[in-house]
Amino acid sequence: MTTIRDLLERGRTLSFEFFPPKTHEAQSKLRATVDLLEKAEPDFVSVTYGAGGTTRETTRETVLDFIEHRSFPAMPHLTCVGHSYAEVVDLIDDYRAHGVHNMLALAGDPPEDGSPNPGDFRYALELVKALRQHSDMSIGVAAFPEVHPRSPSRETDRRHLAEKLDAADFGITQFFFDPADYFAMMEDLAAIGCDTPVLPGVIPVINPASVRRFADMNGTAVDEGLWSRLEAAADADERLEIAVDATVRQIDELLEGGAPGIHIYTLNQADATVRICERIEIR
Ligand code: FAD
Repeated sequence: MTTIRDLLERGRTLSFEFFPPKTHEAQSKLRATVDLLEKAEPDFVSVTYGAGGTTRETTRETVLDFIEHRSFPAMPHLTCVGHSYAEVVDLIDDYRAHGVHNMLALAGDPPEDGSPNPGDFRYALELVKALRQHSDMSIGVAAFPEVHPRSPSRETDRRHLAEKLDAADFGITQFFFDPADYFAMMEDLAAIGCDTPVLPGVIPVINPASVRRFADMNGTAVDEGLWSRLEAAADADERLEIAVDATVRQIDELLEGGAPGIHIYTLNQADATVRICERIEIR
């Protein structure tokens, strides 16, 4: 049984995030991507979950396929939105029966039409507590270096985050570009007595338009200098090289500053992540 809790106690970790494929074609493409990324020997990977259970089956299939056929542990994400307590307990039992020992517990985003969340859980912390009660899984939670967009203030954001991290085993951040934001969050947490490890999440900007869209949704400041260089690139190869360079520099700074590992948002693509892993010294 490999838990991320144990891996982090042993040293720095390298992990990759994927989303579950929607079609057979996308499934084959993900397999080819993972064939390439497996060579970087990730300590674990994670698979996202559509809030409201929209990818309940595909997240499960992707995670179980990794567990059966790959050399690394796979961690499903799970969100509160729309789920009853009984549904969540069923899901936990099913994952445990299939050898899943790690879970990322998230709130998910509430329905866009403003209707109230129909589920039994509101905040991620409630999901963490249910997981603790019904399993011995290692539990991860989300962290936002630049403060969660729904938080009324930095102070309340950090307080709720510290409480959630205290109940969990580790955190993984939303992507960000300035290492100073990560270090400031870790200092804020330490100042209120929270020392749970938090893995910085980084994203190679291979698609500037869509990364900017996600960044706007999450209140993440984009590195305008990087965007200008990406927009001025002559072709996709040059853009890839610029994105890889920027991510490698960011990772080097994070590791030098004491980050307990690196989580890469792969967007189910191999090229950038393979090149990044060739250039970083994580172990
Ligand atoms: P919470 O920790 O519940 O926090 C949400 C907000 O509520 C924050 O503002 C917090 O300060 C506030 N809060 C917390 N507790 C309280 C309290 N007791 N009283 C008042 N306010 C409180 N989304 C998906 O749908 N699927 C995914 O697979 C997914 N994966 C993700 C992976 C990572 C690494 C990250 C960083 C995010 C991911 N998300 C995913 C996005 C996430 O679900 C959303 O950002 C969501 O809005 C917040 O989730 P959370 O778990 O941080 O929520």
